[in-house]
Amino acid sequence: MDQVRNKTVVITGASRGIGAAAARHFAEAGAHVVLAARTEARIEEIAKQIIAAGGAATAVRCDVSQPTDVEHLIETAIDRTGSIDVLINNAGTIDPIARLADSDTHSWGQIVDVNFKGVYHGLRFAIPEMVGAGGGTIINISSGAATSALEGWSHYCATKAAVLSLTRVAHKEYADQGVRVVGLSPGTVATEMQVSIKASGINPVSQLDPDDHIPPEWVAKALMWLCGSEADPHLGHDFSIKTDEGRAAVSLPLTM
Ligand code: NAP
Repeated sequence: MDQVRNKTVVITGASRGIGAAAARHFAEAGAHVVLAARTEARIEEIAKQIIAAGGAATAVRCDVSQPTDVEHLIETAIDRTGSIDVLINNAGTIDPIARLADSDTHSWGQIVDVNFKGVYHGLRFAIPEMVGAGGGTIINISSGAATSALEGWSHYCATKAAVLSLTRVAHKEYADQGVRVVGLSPGTVATEMQVSIKASGINPVSQLDPDDHIPPEWVAKALMWLCGSEADPHLGHDFSIKTDEGRAAVSLPLTM
C-alpha cells in the first residue's frame, strides 16, 4: 500500500459503490484522494468523513460525459495537490437495461457518453500531465461484459469492449513514457448497479443471489494492487479478480 502514500489518486464515480470504497481505501493508505461524481453532496460528505479520519480528500463535481468537466477535474487535482499520479476511470452505468429492439436511442447514446467517452476524456486529459511528470497509472474499470454477449446489455457490452480497446491503445502509445494503463474486471459486486440488474429480470446475471456478489472493498484492494509494479505483466490488458489466480495475486479469498 506504500505505493500511493502522498500520491494524488483521482477516482471518478466516487459517490457510492466501488468508487467510494476505493476512495476510502486509498485515503487509508496515505493518498490524497480526489473524488469525482455528479452528486456533489455525496462526494463532499465522503471527503469530509475521510478528512475527519485523518486522511486527505478533495471533492470535485464532474460529469465524465462532458470533456470540459473532466479537464477541470484533472486541473483541480493538480492545482490542489501538485500532481496526478493515479486516475481510476470508474464512473459507469447500465440503466436502462433493454433488448436492442426495445432500447431508447437517446438513453443508449448516453451510456456511450458516460461508459466509453467518459473513459476517453479521462485518458485525454490525464495522459499529457502524466507524460510531463514522467509517469503515472490509469486504471479503467472493465467488466466480463467487455468480452461476452449478455441479453439486454448491448449498450453495456459494447461500451466495455470499447474501453478495453482504449486500454490496449493507451498502453501501446504511452507505456514507454511511463504511463501504466490497465483494466480491471471485478466480477459481480454488491452495489446499486446490481440492484438495477436484479430488477430488470433480464439475463442470468439478474438471477444471481445478492450473496454471490463480492463487496466493493475487495475491488478497492485490487485497484491498490494494480498501482504496484507486481501488476506490470497485466498492463495493456484487463486484469480479472473473477479467477483464483487473480484473487490470489491480490490476497483476496478464493472462489468457492
Ligand atoms: P454504482 O454504485 O451504480 O456507482 C456508479 C458511480 O458512477 C456513481 O458514483 C455515479 O455517481 C457515477 N456516475 C454515473 N454516471 C456518471 C457521470 N456521467 N459522471 C460522473 N460519474 C458518474 O455502480 P458500481 O458498481 O460502483 O460501478 C462502478 C464501475 O464498476 C462501473 O464502471 C461499472 O460498470 C463497473 N462494474 C460494476 C460491476 C458490478 O457488479 N457492480 C461489475 C463490473 C463492472 P453520480 O450518480 O453521483 O454521478
